[in-house]
Amino acid sequence: MKQEKPRPWRRDPTKRVSGEPGAIQAVALLDLTIYLQHRVFHAVPLLWRFHAVHHADNDFDVTTGLRFHTASILLSLGVKLGATVLLGASPLAVLVSETALNGTAMFNHGNVRIPSGLERVLRWLVVTPDMHRVHHSVEASELGRNFGFNFPWWDRLLGTYRSQPAGGHAAMTIGLAEHQAETRQGLAWMLALPFRRPADAERAAGSEGTARRRGNGPASIV
Ligand SMILES: [Zn+2]
Repeated sequence: MKQEKPRPWRRDPTKRVSGEPGAIQAVALLDLTIYLQHRVFHAVPLLWRFHAVHHADNDFDVTTGLRFHTASILLSLGVKLGATVLLGASPLAVLVSETALNGTAMFNHGNVRIPSGLERVLRWLVVTPDMHRVHHSVEASELGRNFGFNFPWWDRLLGTYRSQPAGGHAAMTIGLAEHQAETRQGLAWMLALPFRRPADAERAAGSEGTARRRGNGPASIV
């Protein structure tokens, strides 16, 4: 019978190594990683160019939650792989984390209005559409808030929480100021956006008229 070569780097996924986080801790830590990654995407100019494709959407709905540049998806995949290895997260924790992340990204970009009493309770447990909509405001002071995707706690703990947009949900302007006039944002436009010079974007916006200001009020779910 062929003897299997010893592979010290290979771990038995059914056995927990001492010091490794349990599944619940690992899910929370992977979510903290996503929160920190999101802040870095906003803080580093090169990374912002790619993340801006997500923010350039002048509407806020479920499709916004799917709209990420290929490069930022690949980068995020690398960050999540690295965090999984460093944490020693179990396959179960990764499965739960990824499933929750995909589900909540659809939920918290939803163009819906949840009854205020329910929403106030819900936002202690999960990032709600009202909470995340603040992050999609054209106003810099709101764009730099509410980075969480899954759990709402990191923003509250790390000082980036803002409960409501100053202009109210119905009147606030969604998107980026320099792309308000871009009413047709096709696939090629989105893929090329990170490689456009800021001056090109401003010129394009200026030639197409002044920035549109309009209400982006959410639809009621009741
Ligand atoms: Zn963002």
